[in-house]
Amino acid sequence: MNLPRTADIVIIGGGVMGASAAYHLAQRGVRNVVLLEREEFFGTGATGRCAGGVRYQFSTEINVRLSMASLPMIDRFKEEIGQEVSYRKCGYLLVATRENDVAAFRRNVELQNRLGAPTELLSGDDVRARVPSMVFADALAGTFNRHDGVADPNSVVMGYVGAARRLGAKVVSRAEVTEVRVGGNKVEAVETTLGSIETHLVLNAAGPWASEIGRLAGVDVPIVPIRRQMFTTTPIPAVPDDLPFVIDFAQSLYFHREGAGLLVGMSNTRQAPGYDQRVDEAFELTTMEAAVARLPSMREAGRVSHWAGLYEVTPDAHPIFGTTPVDGFYIVGGFSGHGFMHGPVAGKLMAELIVDGSFATVDVSALDLARFDEGRLVHEYNVV
Ligand SMILES: Cc1cc2nc3c(=O)[nH]c(=O)nc-3n(C[C@H](O)[C@H](O)[C@H](O)COP(=O)(O)OP(=O)(O)OC[C@H]3O[C@@H](n4cnc5c(N)ncnc54)[C@H](O)[C@@H]3O)c2cc1C
Repeated sequence: MNLPRTADIVIIGGGVMGASAAYHLAQRGVRNVVLLEREEFFGTGATGRCAGGVRYQFSTEINVRLSMASLPMIDRFKEEIGQEVSYRKCGYLLVATRENDVAAFRRNVELQNRLGAPTELLSGDDVRARVPSMVFADALAGTFNRHDGVADPNSVVMGYVGAARRLGAKVVSRAEVTEVRVGGNKVEAVETTLGSIETHLVLNAAGPWASEIGRLAGVDVPIVPIRRQMFTTTPIPAVPDDLPFVIDFAQSLYFHREGAGLLVGMSNTRQAPGYDQRVDEAFELTTMEAAVARLPSMREAGRVSHWAGLYEVTPDAHPIFGTTPVDGFYIVGGFSGHGFMHGPVAGKLMAELIVDGSFATVDVSALDLARFDEGRLVHEYNVV
């Protein structure tokens, strides 16, 4: 498609955030919405490389509230957007093997229950009974929410991109933003590899690359890219169809069903920041050893595929929503490893802010960019 010469708003980044924002802005009646993605296809950044997990189980009120608003949007995606997204409610089982995690798990369940999420607190024996195919002799406690599960990230992105387009938004791939022109502290235009677009509003939705886009506008965005990776296996008959999304919390090791096999990932706590998206083979071996110790039947399985992607991490592991010191330059990003599930409501919230001037669905005003300079950080414990 030809690049429009002007826009009411330019959204930079065609992952779940940009696609959801484009749809919600168009749906709210903003006419000339332009969504730019530098790759050939939408959703090939963090979104397309993610594990697809969606959960209510967080440790801060704001994250639970984001899930309470966003997961029902994924549940009714087909009705609202017209796209099947394969939301499978297998439940998330978080397993605690350290005493201090048990106390935190208890607090988290209380918080989630108070906000209306029916998460259950389990004993170590309950954990062992729930996943008999796994070795959890050291489990002290667990938490389980049967509404948690997995959905398909690409379907969510393409659903929003298609729906935005039907509402008149222009969506352009292979368009890399190279400059954000600012005059008198106001956004004036964006320059891209396909030409320039005059606009007074820009939404930075560039995920792990959001700090680079911030720099183009002279705005400091504290989002750091951290590599995370996973692999999938051949079928494992010992693993039941209804295996929950299991997280060995102390090791940040997780498993969920992927077809007749498994998807397995583990966070490398020593991973240095950077944009390298190649699989770290040595750490993959460490992950396999840890996974086989928990699920011995995996020893018989082969690896089908593996890949790495980038978390977009902020200093307090909470996202950034809102305005910046440059007039007309907005940001949504920094979801620190759980943005796929919050993407639907995040785009809706940005449309509320841009069209109405305030957030309505969830009050995320505490998650502004200014909190980092002002020391108002909000820490999340359940980061995997
Ligand atoms: C391995 C892994 C597992 C994960 N698992 C989960 C999970 O189970 N559940 C969950 O909720 N979240 C998960 N996440 C996190 C989730 O993927 C992200 O939080 C979310 O996808 C971020 O979406 P985004 O739209 O902000 O970023 P992205 O999807 O990265 O989109 C940003 C886009 O901006 C584009 N871009 C960058 N620079 C430019 C430019 N100059 N011009 C134009 N376009 C540009 C990029 O190409 C990219 O497509 C996981 C992430 C990883 C890496």
